[in-house]
Amino acid sequence: MLKLYNTLTRRKQEFIPINASEVLMYTCGPTVYNYAHIGNLRTYVFMDLLRRSLHYEGYTIKGVMNITDVGHLMSDSDTGEDKMEMASREQRKSPLEIAAFYTDVFFADLKKLNINRPEIIAKATDHIKEMIAYTKSLLDSGYAYETSDAIYFDISKFPRYGMLSGIDLDSQLAGARVSINDEKRHPADFALWKKAEPGHIMRWMSPWGEGYPGWHIECSVMSQKYLHAPFDIHSGGVDHIPIHHENEIAQNDAITGIQTVNYWIHGEFMLVDGGKMSKSLGNVYTLSQLQDKGYSPLDFRLFCLNTHYRSKLNFTFQGMDSAKASREKLLIQLLRHRESSVKTPSNIIESYANSFRQAIEDDLNVPLALGILFTAIKEAKSCDIYNLVLDFDKIFALSLDELPKVNDTSDETLIPDSVVELVNARVEAKLQKNYALADEMRKKILDMGYIVIDTPTGPKITLVDKNNNAK
Ligand code: AMP
Ligand code: ZN
Repeated sequence: MLKLYNTLTRRKQEFIPINASEVLMYTCGPTVYNYAHIGNLRTYVFMDLLRRSLHYEGYTIKGVMNITDVGHLMSDSDTGEDKMEMASREQRKSPLEIAAFYTDVFFADLKKLNINRPEIIAKATDHIKEMIAYTKSLLDSGYAYETSDAIYFDISKFPRYGMLSGIDLDSQLAGARVSINDEKRHPADFALWKKAEPGHIMRWMSPWGEGYPGWHIECSVMSQKYLHAPFDIHSGGVDHIPIHHENEIAQNDAITGIQTVNYWIHGEFMLVDGGKMSKSLGNVYTLSQLQDKGYSPLDFRLFCLNTHYRSKLNFTFQGMDSAKASREKLLIQLLRHRESSVKTPSNIIESYANSFRQAIEDDLNVPLALGILFTAIKEAKSCDIYNLVLDFDKIFALSLDELPKVNDTSDETLIPDSVVELVNARVEAKLQKNYALADEMRKKILDMGYIVIDTPTGPKITLVDKNNNAK
């Protein structure tokens, strides 16, 4: 029985989907104005773990993820410049070019991390008509009001506002700075539709003149268009709880008159060196930058798997080094299991399989599941352990089924000159910081049946022979 922590009820709950076989799930996607950083990517690794766990439990999924290519202002609460327009100005490209470029890079990053795409990807700019109609319904039903600059949602009409984060609006009101916009009835009222200021590039005709959507409305419109109401799961990062998701709930529930989402599931933040990631501190890393430093995207994936999705994860290069080393060790051990014809007693395999399932079903306890993996591979070398681990990899997605071929004709104790030459050339490539070439060479060496492990005293070459003994 799968249990998930629901932010709405603040407890772990048994997961019971609306339709017995198909889970309806929505995930807040990226704002495509820049490269995704490793914190963003941690949130999508979490989405992927959730989706893979649901599959593991036998469900199919109808998943929707939005791409925000308009309407996300610099602050989540409707102030500042539109992020897309800012990037467009700074990079001298049209907002559409910016969006297309960063959307492609985002999906390439997901692929490198073995993150499966949700079934439906929905771009905000493809849903402007629906957003206008939605705004109009909220106006017509008295949940919204018009000012000189926007159509705002009136949170006083929605008494349950704040239920997800438990914020106290009265104290927030008392503590609020003098509202920048005195036409707003409450500082937390948020824009459904903004009237375009002169010079604003992205604009569409609406009943209120030319304008563009607020950020929160796209997720309500697209989740209801593709999943209808109610649906099962809404996921995203914890930063979305107090504003973006409160606003989504207000919009959804006002329009439908019901509680639209059954399980709100949030992934915690990634910190860098114990602090916030920020451009001014120079600690905002992208996946490509990690690759340039010699890490595989799957080292980063393993690094993320080591911490539960509801705990903060502190990024350090030391942590990445140990993830990289653990993955190397894991691959070597697995090669030996794969090549073994020895069997493991079925009760041992079953016991590992049961513990693994229990860990996953307990609110995706992936770090515990990883511990089970690392214990299992210490068992005597056996193809049953290899097959067990392949089953675990349906969740971990560390490409453990793509181990290199083993040179099964060799029982040489000497390492062939061709391998030694490649190992030396790889040291040279690393000295020249050509990590891509070094990685390519490592793969070639693996294909020849050898594994090179970097140790403080230099590279160590291990032969994987047909008897599964490293020499
Ligand atoms: P954005 O493109 O800003 O909408 O963010 C995309 C996703 O990344 C959202 O789900 C955010 O919650 C998430 N996110 C942003 N910063 C971090 C971080 N430091 N750690 C983890 N997730 C983050
Ligand atoms: Zn959203």
